[in-house]
Amino acid sequence: MNKEKIVIFDIDYTLFDSKNYRDNLVRKIGEEIKYKDLKAFEKIGEDVYMELRKSVIYFDPKLYAKSLSNYLNIDLDENLIEAISLSEKIIDQSVYEEALEAIEALKNKNFKIGIFSTGLETIQRAKISKFEKHLEEEHIHIIKDKKEFLPKLIEKYKNHDLYMVDDLLEILYSAVIMDKSVHTIWIKRGRFAKESDTKLFTPDVTVSNLTEAVEFIKNS
Ligand SMILES: [Mg+2]
Repeated sequence: MNKEKIVIFDIDYTLFDSKNYRDNLVRKIGEEIKYKDLKAFEKIGEDVYMELRKSVIYFDPKLYAKSLSNYLNIDLDENLIEAISLSEKIIDQSVYEEALEAIEALKNKNFKIGIFSTGLETIQRAKISKFEKHLEEEHIHIIKDKKEFLPKLIEKYKNHDLYMVDDLLEILYSAVIMDKSVHTIWIKRGRFAKESDTKLFTPDVTVSNLTEAVEFIKNS
């Protein structure tokens, strides 16, 4: 029996270099608001971001603008910050360079492509806009909580050959607990790269970029 094959990608630190994005974003905001000491602003931007992340799980440009305004004691234009956050130029330069090619290679081998990510819908959509033509709406899952949504995802693809690519080992582990036939590809980069496999769980493969992930998937 030939099952349909689908590869589901996480976004941040899997397809998209979120740290790089943040650095570029902060620099650009500093320039736009004509902050005198840009070097100092880079530090402020990062500190405010990290502080905000303690109370809000994912990046929201309007909240970020508010926090920056409070910190600097100036009145920043939230819409300007949002526009910079969503600007194609800022976004596109942080998509991992091999990502588009990797997705195309899988499409050529008749894999369907899906997305499984948390985050603000507008921002996450912008991050995957480069791959839009390879994605079908029904396979894009941008949700609040991955662990909570996971049972639905597993159920939806129970008749598929399902591959999951994520930088978060915990998500892959949770998926395998629900369905041991899921193929797990751990992409070891970004803020969780220093984690190590647990004794309880070893992913099917550990890779450092998407080209390696595709090699594994094509040969499995
Ligand atoms: Mg991630």
